[in-house]
Amino acid sequence: MSDTFHAMWRSLRPIGRSDATGGYRRYAWTAADAECRVWFQAQAEARGLDYEVDRNGNQWAWLGDPSRGDAVVTGSHLDSVPDGGAFDGPLGVVSSFAALDELRARKVSFRRPLAITNFGDEEGARFGLACVGSRLTAGQLTREKAYELTDASGTTLPQAMEAAGYDPSAIGPDPERLARIGAFVELHVEQGRALDLTGDPVGIASAIWPHGRWRFDFRGEANHAGTTRLADRRDPMLSYAETVLAARREAELAGAVATFGKIAVEPNGVNAIPSLVRGWLDSRAADQESLDTVVTGIEKAAREYADRHGIDLDVVRESFTPVVEFEDALRDELGRLLGGERPVPVLGTGAGHDAGILSGSIPTAMLFVRNPTGVSHSPAEFAAEDDCVAGVTALADVLEGLACR
Ligand SMILES: [Zn+2]
Repeated sequence: MSDTFHAMWRSLRPIGRSDATGGYRRYAWTAADAECRVWFQAQAEARGLDYEVDRNGNQWAWLGDPSRGDAVVTGSHLDSVPDGGAFDGPLGVVSSFAALDELRARKVSFRRPLAITNFGDEEGARFGLACVGSRLTAGQLTREKAYELTDASGTTLPQAMEAAGYDPSAIGPDPERLARIGAFVELHVEQGRALDLTGDPVGIASAIWPHGRWRFDFRGEANHAGTTRLADRRDPMLSYAETVLAARREAELAGAVATFGKIAVEPNGVNAIPSLVRGWLDSRAADQESLDTVVTGIEKAAREYADRHGIDLDVVRESFTPVVEFEDALRDELGRLLGGERPVPVLGTGAGHDAGILSGSIPTAMLFVRNPTGVSHSPAEFAAEDDCVAGVTALADVLEGLACR
């Protein structure tokens, strides 16, 4: 089984890879994305699977007749963030085909239809919205909103789909397709170090943490950096800096994460006291209450600092995604199917996935494969060979349990 895994890994590896950084640039509806799609179709056809593209540009490879319903579906995505790693997405797709090979080697017979998918534009690197393919299918993104998505060069999503040879006119909710699916299982490289810490190659997802983005606008007064006495300044950078430290403190107290990763400063001059510091907070926590506590704590601290320095502060929530709890029954079933001498760890994640989007419509579950450094969305993202093989075996065990017995 590791042979077919490696052959697939090798053939996918060069596509969309930057020689300069070693990172991947597989953005939706670009030439690199098209190459990934050709690769997927070739893998489907090599296995005698029925290949199709749905109205939202997601790829499907079917074993058995989908119209029978109650299908078991597995897969992930092949697109990447800018200079992404090799594993985020592709590990799930490659493992899906390898798991099917493994099941065929086990000579099992399939009781339910099985499909492997590649969901389009999961990372949202080009149009700024993640999980476009699964959101459209699940009806969480309307056709009208999708038509407005525009990339940095001014190309809209429908224009990009058309340029890539796909018809965008029918994009939108696909309830008939979802109604035929009984379970979706996505295998994904872990984007943290939980499995490294427990010493397990594979884990099961419990939930996707609630997460959101908040914009903090600190307004003070621009003035000369050389001639303005410290006592006379209204410098918003001070309040901002104290708020960054407060975010770290609040997140630590709540066992959550909080990050100010983007900042805009006006007038942005070396020798000018800023008039405006705009910082974006990204915060995620295991549950809604913890997240509320963190963000409320940060905002309270920010207001105190702003008052002290004569700064006006506006806080705006720009986006928010509530907690996704994967279905208990399917998660427990995975635990049972994978249970050996010791139970497979069940862990939450702070990252979004197609499985999270689809969980609102159909039973979904996720398997994570250990990532020893926890680094993700970077060329340094990594999973060891043995762990990838353990992931394929686990996925095959799950698919056999769900589709063959
Ligand atoms: Zn991913």
